[in-house]
Amino acid sequence: MLRIGRYELYSVVTGAFRLDGGAMFGVVPKVLWGNAVECDEANRIILATRTLLAVDHDEKRVILADTGCGTKWSKELAARFAIVHDRDAIPNALSAIGMSIDDVTDIVVTHLHFDHNGGLTEWFDDPGGPTTLRFPKARHWIHKNQWDHAHHPNYKDRASYLKEDFDGLESGGVLRFVEGDRPGTPWPGVEWFISHGHTPYQLHPVFTDSSTRLYFVGDLIPTVVHLRLGWVMAYDLFPLTTLREKEMLFRGAIEQGWLLAFPHDPKIGGVGLSGTLERPIVTQTLPI
Ligand SMILES: [Zn+2]
Repeated sequence: MLRIGRYELYSVVTGAFRLDGGAMFGVVPKVLWGNAVECDEANRIILATRTLLAVDHDEKRVILADTGCGTKWSKELAARFAIVHDRDAIPNALSAIGMSIDDVTDIVVTHLHFDHNGGLTEWFDDPGGPTTLRFPKARHWIHKNQWDHAHHPNYKDRASYLKEDFDGLESGGVLRFVEGDRPGTPWPGVEWFISHGHTPYQLHPVFTDSSTRLYFVGDLIPTVVHLRLGWVMAYDLFPLTTLREKEMLFRGAIEQGWLLAFPHDPKIGGVGLSGTLERPIVTQTLPI
């Protein structure tokens, strides 16, 4: 556990999946990324799905940032991505600190790609039928422009958005939109950071106190292997914007001690950095 200000922070691994290594590193050739990460016979690398759990005991506020791939998978699609989802991971993490899933007050939906928030809904009964909300009592925070984009994705990213992941949110009355380019502070000790390189209006919670800031970096920096400025995913809609956003995060981490929490690293929940903007060096792995 890591404490920042009012919040206890935990990185909860809800499962794993595999994506093509080439797509994960964009223009970087396999002769380079193949030295940094292992792939299977189909050229796929393993990725975790991580939920950042933040608890403010005084205010009884329990925040989840992202919820993993969820359970709504056919055998064929689950095999394509080697999806493993542990439905009990979040309840178990809450139980370990004396809480339950009913105590979750807020969910930060960084963006609606299936590997980040397929866990928001489940099939009520039959696959392909109606869905139910996994967290019906929690407010679901998402940037309005990402919400709109998810309903009108383009040819490049439409495979990442599955309507059944978010169709039930509006009728469930749980949606809370974050709007504008500089939204206000949602809660004491938390700020919003908005990025655009990976997908429009990705929403990142930032936990702050007087001495540091922890960014849930989402798909700007999926894993520790992406701690190289130019190693940007082919999935990104605006890779040059991702470069600028990564540079800003690296600069803050190296010069001001910001901490970065990953969404997909199989082993490491988060890091502190030194080194250079082009090639940061991990100086600490976070106890989250
Ligand atoms: Zn994504």
